[in-house]
Amino acid sequence: MIQLPGRVTRLQEFASDLWWSWSPDVREVFRRLDYALWRQTAHNPVRMLKLLSPEALRRAMDDAAWLACYDAAALRLDAMRSRAETWWATQGPDLGGRVIAYFSAEFALHQSLPIYAGGLGVLAGDHCKEASDLGVPLVGVGFMYPQGYFHQSLSADGWQEERYERLDWTDAPIEPAITPDGRPCITAVPLGNRSVLVAVWRVRVGRVPLYLLDTDLEENAPWDRELSARLYGGDRETRIQQEIILGIGGVRVLKALGHDVAACHLNEGHAAFVVLQRIRDLCERGWSFEEAHAEVRRTTVFTTHTPVPAGHDAFPFNLVEKHLAGVWGDLGAHREQFLALGHYDNGSGPLFNMTALALRTADGINGVSALHADVTRRMWAPLWPGVPPERLPVRAVTNGVHVSTWIASEIRRLFDEHLGRDWLDRHDDPALGYAVLAIPDEAIWAARQALRSFLFTFVRERARHRWTVERVAATRIVAAGTMFDQQTLTIGFARRFTSYKRPELVFADPDRLTRILTLHGRPVQLVFAGKAHPADDAGKHHLQQIYQRALDPRYGGRIAFIDDYDLHVAHFLVQGCDVWLNTPRKPLEASGTSGMKAAINGTPNLSIGDGWWAEGYAGDNGWLIQGEADPADQAAQDWADAQALYDLLEQQVVPAFYDRDGRGIPRRWLRIVKESIRTVLPRFSTRRMVKQYVTELYGPAATR
Ligand SMILES: *Cc1c(COP(=O)(O)O)cnc(C)c1O
Repeated sequence: MIQLPGRVTRLQEFASDLWWSWSPDVREVFRRLDYALWRQTAHNPVRMLKLLSPEALRRAMDDAAWLACYDAAALRLDAMRSRAETWWATQGPDLGGRVIAYFSAEFALHQSLPIYAGGLGVLAGDHCKEASDLGVPLVGVGFMYPQGYFHQSLSADGWQEERYERLDWTDAPIEPAITPDGRPCITAVPLGNRSVLVAVWRVRVGRVPLYLLDTDLEENAPWDRELSARLYGGDRETRIQQEIILGIGGVRVLKALGHDVAACHLNEGHAAFVVLQRIRDLCERGWSFEEAHAEVRRTTVFTTHTPVPAGHDAFPFNLVEKHLAGVWGDLGAHREQFLALGHYDNGSGPLFNMTALALRTADGINGVSALHADVTRRMWAPLWPGVPPERLPVRAVTNGVHVSTWIASEIRRLFDEHLGRDWLDRHDDPALGYAVLAIPDEAIWAARQALRSFLFTFVRERARHRWTVERVAATRIVAAGTMFDQQTLTIGFARRFTSYKRPELVFADPDRLTRILTLHGRPVQLVFAGKAHPADDAGKHHLQQIYQRALDPRYGGRIAFIDDYDLHVAHFLVQGCDVWLNTPRKPLEASGTSGMKAAINGTPNLSIGDGWWAEGYAGDNGWLIQGEADPADQAAQDWADAQALYDLLEQQVVPAFYDRDGRGIPRRWLRIVKESIRTVLPRFSTRRMVKQYVTELYGPAATR
């Protein structure tokens, strides 16, 4: 670690608050400090400061422009921290210093903190960043997984291989969480008949603290140290123990850290044991079980994400009893009552279902799109006997994306210039969207061209690495996208590989697809990325199928697969592609968010009307794939959707992109691009989403 001279001593502080990642001024400080190192570390300032050479630092300090940049960043950071007039301060309820506690098994904040698998984590990370921007008194609780989620590589024939790498914690933006009396926070959590110690890391997310629980302490037994090793690793037994640590441990940790909780938000059922610890605490203070349950219900908000019954976490009762043995305390007399809260039988015998527990113990319940709320009501109707599904208390709060995180610098600069420098403060105002339409076509086209070329530079650099370091065969370098062309219409498909997302739908008729991809003068290229869950062999087969196509010369090198999809790769793809493709089997996509990230950058969606796109599609802001078939006949529906997709590509997407005026500008295309930004930016940002959570769910829960 380099010794920082007094003049720039705050670099350390900049690096240790992830606020840098969505603050252009602070980003710029690190980008310009040592550009090669910035790229080499995949934008990790903590690691940069570890590796920075004295020469590079001296060079930066001799540069007046860089020092000015540094000073501007320091002012911005101080202004953010001291600002009293936040949205919450003027519009939110007064909680008297109490907090909203947000629990999630994963948080995707930045690639330097790999404690996420996919969409659920991205939503949680974006939620925390937006809460910081709006001044919501939110604290996050999750896990610090030393090995995180896996890194993906592919064998020569496209089978996914999973690599777990132990994170070097000195590279991560984490620090020990400190209790009010100045000691590192270590909390005991009862598990089975023993007690497991949990250490706590703090991540600074602007104004929002995120606490990450960690069982890898010397005092713990080896198997307990492993409990928090991996995200979604291990069997049912590991899983339930993780969830007890998160729920029971999370509530205890907040108390140890001196936080007084006004309401709890459970992001998916993984954290539902939170309610057990809270009911127990109240019973210990003399409340009856019924009173305690009612009070916890009043102050709990639950967001469900899974429209498939089998996707919900559920455990056999004996497993629950075994691992909760030490938890009961004064609640012991009410064990049966508590276990009944999780009781659910979805046809294959009764289990303790984490979603059922959360649904029975939260007054504020929501799905993540209008369609998904509807599906949720029908799916869980048995929990409310006698109530018609449409009357069930499940709201819709459609997901959003954190705009400053996902917007490309080129687009941000364009908006700064044409929408006013304060556009970000007003970006959820629908009126702002209309100003987008007045941006000159030439300017937006130049930005789009630049973003496509950044994507290709990134793709080539990755391929070069595979070629020179890993020495993979030349065909695999082609499959990595090296023959991609700068000027060609590029369609992106990146998400978890799993059957319901139908990644191979676009290959339903290989001959027709080949004609589309290789049409003389108007070619199309397709880029894929995504991981399959380690236990999902069907997902891995889908991925392999895609990879085989990328290797197949008949497609002319116009299909690529980018491995190890993560936040970093996602940024390049959603910003650099021209069209964002999504082909889920309706209604299994609860919301989806990558399409929103794409749309706000001027990458229109070409998607089935599922999840958020059922609300987002407005006729001229992208395309709706809608094959006419009997939905009960899967094969027929797949074929019809594929035909509809080809029709759209041939008749609308490709012509709109390639029809140019005398100055080479695709006017018709850019109208769609601007409509995409205009309609999606205000409505599908976390700005709208978090405000909605506050007014409809947090406010009532925290002040009832
Ligand atoms: C946005 C994002 C996702 C979620 O994408 P969906 O469209 O919801 O499937 C998953 N992984 C990464 C890395 C992302 O950035």
